[in-house]
Amino acid sequence: MSTEQSVAKTVVSDAEFKQPQLVEHFARVVTNHDLTHAYLFNGESGSGKLAVALQVTMALFCEHPVNGRPCGQCNECIRIANRQHPDVLIVQPDGASIKIDQVRMLKAEFSKSAVEGNQKAFIINGADKMTTEAANSLLKFIEEPVGNVVSFLLTNNKSLVLPTIVSRTQLVDFPAIAPAVFSKELAQMGIDRNYFHLITMLTNNLQTVHEWFENDWFAKLQTAISQWFLQLNKHSPVAFTMVQTDIVPLINNQAAKAITIDMLIEVWRDVLDVKFNAVADAELSFPQIKDQIHQIAFKIPKMQLLEIIELVLKNNGALAANLNFQTILETTTLRVLEKLE
Ligand SMILES: [Zn+2]
Repeated sequence: MSTEQSVAKTVVSDAEFKQPQLVEHFARVVTNHDLTHAYLFNGESGSGKLAVALQVTMALFCEHPVNGRPCGQCNECIRIANRQHPDVLIVQPDGASIKIDQVRMLKAEFSKSAVEGNQKAFIINGADKMTTEAANSLLKFIEEPVGNVVSFLLTNNKSLVLPTIVSRTQLVDFPAIAPAVFSKELAQMGIDRNYFHLITMLTNNLQTVHEWFENDWFAKLQTAISQWFLQLNKHSPVAFTMVQTDIVPLINNQAAKAITIDMLIEVWRDVLDVKFNAVADAELSFPQIKDQIHQIAFKIPKMQLLEIIELVLKNNGALAANLNFQTILETTTLRVLEKLE
């Protein structure tokens, strides 16, 4: 199989895998020739918006469609999936935004008649990134398309898309992908199974996970929190210095602070779950230190544990109130040490 063929196959299987219900819905719409001229796909990154937009476009152009679904193998399907079809245009942000020149070019392309057939399609990936100028320029075009044009506008956050655009498109909300699908994607990304539970407690966004695992950042942070937690439970003052030496150096933005606070909660939640809910080890967020978690859960009195959990839960509020991050962690460390004494 050539690279181009496998790209087309991946688009189709990605769409089916991530959004089976939406694919089914659009297959019916395509079969009934019921497509409207402009859609706004709204959903988190990783939820399959581009794959579905391409898949539906392929179904429209496909030489051998089956019940509204593309074959994924014909010349049309292959060229669309590989972004080589002259009648299918995909616009991406140029830098941080989609600029008016990009929309002008799109309009110029589309005012010509279709190069090959009479169907045309365009996809704007990052509709929230259009400058106001670009969006306004696109509006009239969406409202009065020339010929047989279908447009897909894709966004991670519909509240950032101009209301005039939203009101002129048909909104399709993409659900977050199902947990089983999410786990399978994590496995495909090559992520160690031991991190799966913690990840799913923190996000269901694959792009986010991808960023977290750049340079092993997530694994390093999880290890630092594990070590901090173990020192705490030895009643060791090393836990206090570790905040500055091991944890804070890993934190370089606001999101990382929030993840750290959540990880602190999760490691104590593991103790709570082991103590009261007898959860399986696969359900732990910190399975790497499961033996120690079991020992701590066995030893710690119930009231003490609940008080500590209450303490770590309060950190979210402290972070929201913009208190110094290192101070939040150090204060928490001292208070937990006091409780454990
Ligand atoms: Zn085809």
